[in-house]
Amino acid sequence: RAKASGSGGFQYFRPEMETNASDRLVLGSALSNALSDGGLFLVYQPQADLDTGRLRGVEALLRWRHQGETISPDRFIPIAEKTGLIHAIGAWVIRESCRAAARWKAEGWHDVRVSVNLSPRQFHDRGLLATIRSALNESGLQAGHLEIEITESMAMSNPAHTASALAELRALGVLVAIDDFGTGHSSLAALGTYPLDTLKIDLSFTQAIGTDPRVEIIVRTIIAMAKTLSLNLVAEGVETQEQADFLSGAGCRTIQGYLLGHPMEEAEFGQWRRGHGELHGADEAQSP
Ligand code: C2E
Ligand code: MG
Ligand code: MG
Ligand code: MG
Repeated sequence: RAKASGSGGFQYFRPEMETNASDRLVLGSALSNALSDGGLFLVYQPQADLDTGRLRGVEALLRWRHQGETISPDRFIPIAEKTGLIHAIGAWVIRESCRAAARWKAEGWHDVRVSVNLSPRQFHDRGLLATIRSALNESGLQAGHLEIEITESMAMSNPAHTASALAELRALGVLVAIDDFGTGHSSLAALGTYPLDTLKIDLSFTQAIGTDPRVEIIVRTIIAMAKTLSLNLVAEGVETQEQADFLSGAGCRTIQGYLLGHPMEEAEFGQWRRGHGELHGADEAQSP
């Protein structure tokens, strides 16, 4: 996944979220119906501490079942961004995620945490705070169980907006994570000025562990940076025990990835969680 740039540099990137005209035409109108016809659904991917097995929470990831095919958010979120549908879809994701977390909490998962991705247009929407507030009220979930993910590039594109929007979220009690960390261009100085809780190490870095020593140095640097700023860390895209061992040794104990679990629909995740609890001791038993 990770590609080295020309001229000996090591810049890691993935193609910008792009959308082509035919996708927009064909999928755009179907997408506008997807909210009402039940085509959109969420899957939840667990995050856990490597050493204790303790669940940290889940990331909610959006899926669209359209004409028998499941379409990736990398393909339809850009369309929703262009058409403005992202506001309705994004609000639905926030509401659904809060409801799911409230159900898990009622089942006894006391320190449940659900992480929700925001798109650039949502992050810049003046109505975002009200949307989050009403999702919390309606579900009865306390703000501290909800984490918002914005990408590093979103955070850096308009520093003034980022600072005030994050301060408002924080004032509400919502947690904030920087997603895909390492792919944007942030400085320690800029990062240090934002009220943040968590850095998520991008999966392109995780997946180069064991194959690219330069990336291993970058990962160690990111971990040191997070410690300097007193931020929590989550490594994304962990697929192998070797990657997990490297991360744990380097000081990043919380992972998300296929090694731990794939994104799952709520019922399947419920089963997974019960199995996980049996393997590692019930989560309640490990609560402080
Ligand atoms: P992301 O937030 O960085 O999510 C991580 C992606 O990595 C997810 O892809 C997840 O399924 C995938 N992944 C997790 N573990 C592994 C692993 O071990 N190996 C590999 N190869 N991949 C892994 P997904 O679900 O296709 O989502 C892609 C992107 O779409 C997300 O990247 C996020 O930026 C966006 N997205 C997903 N749901 C939403 C949403 O509700 N709203 C918005 N605005 N964006 C969303
Ligand atoms: Mg994310
Ligand atoms: Mg990510
Ligand atoms: Mg991403």
